Amino acid sequence: MKTLSGREPAERILEDAGQRVAKMARKPRLAIVLAGNDPASETYVKRKLERAAEVGVETTLERLDENASETEILKVVKRLNKDKGIDGFIVQAPLPKNMDYTRIVEAIDPEKDVDGWTSANLGRMLNGLGKPFLPATPLGVIRMLEHYGAGIAGNHAVVVGRSNVVGKPVAMLLLGKDATVTICHSKTRDLAEHTKKADIIVAAAGVPGLVKADMVKEGAYIIDVGTTSVGGKIKGDVDFENVIKKAHCSPVPGGVGPMTVAMLISNVVEAASRRQ
Ligand code: NAP
Repeated sequence: MKTLSGREPAERILEDAGQRVAKMARKPRLAIVLAGNDPASETYVKRKLERAAEVGVETTLERLDENASETEILKVVKRLNKDKGIDGFIVQAPLPKNMDYTRIVEAIDPEKDVDGWTSANLGRMLNGLGKPFLPATPLGVIRMLEHYGAGIAGNHAVVVGRSNVVGKPVAMLLLGKDATVTICHSKTRDLAEHTKKADIIVAAAGVPGLVKADMVKEGAYIIDVGTTSVGGKIKGDVDFENVIKKAHCSPVPGGVGPMTVAMLISNVVEAASRRQ
């Protein structure tokens, strides 16, 4: 079955972004707020900055140490909201312990919220009003399914995970594309009973190897969002080696990761275009 690489569709999205940037009077600028020194976050941020630079998006990295207080981070957020030279910014998760991530995200100006995590953008996604910035990872999942011709409308999609940043928005976007959607979570009684019936599975539980070959339908499309560090290696939620014999599946790494970065940059370019 097909390996649903995220690299190829991500390249296309970045090419489009680069072409838009080339026509702009002023280069877009993305800021990333990074608090602490989580090694995985360092890697993700580095990748975002590099890919942005490749398409002509300028970047600013706002570093805070791991002992930074919530008040200090909020101060940076407020400054970036006001900074006319910044088109969009994100606060890289996870934040150091004891911080209320939601409170920090809520302080981001929705017009600069290029990760699409504020209630304003999530609300616009739900009620169809205005032009929300859609969350990068969920949007990347949809674009991958479309790129590989998975056929969303009318099909049965099972989303494993119900977080506000992945599971719920993915489910809403799939619903918006006319899929019939089932959302599963840690209290779901028999996960396999649901996944076996799915034409599309989006696994976003953060549990390595959760989705096994005997839990999927022949020929289904499976997008693995999971990224868990196991012994220094990043593992997905899907038992890829066995599942790929039966269904089309995205790998980890090289699946959703590149798409998340590409969608973020695409959102920054869109934010800059709206502001210009
Ligand atoms: P999260 O907030 O921890 O949510 C995990 C969800 O999975 C919860 O809804 C949880 O259910 C559910 N779950 C946990 N164990 C389960 C099980 N055994 N069976 C069914 N459902 C189960 O995580 P998240 O932020 O959504 O992220 C999910 C995964 O995606 C993580 O591995 C994360 O690192 C990864 N991720 C990757 C990218 C990327 O760009 N590739 C971006 C974002 C996230 P309850 O609600 O009942 O607890």
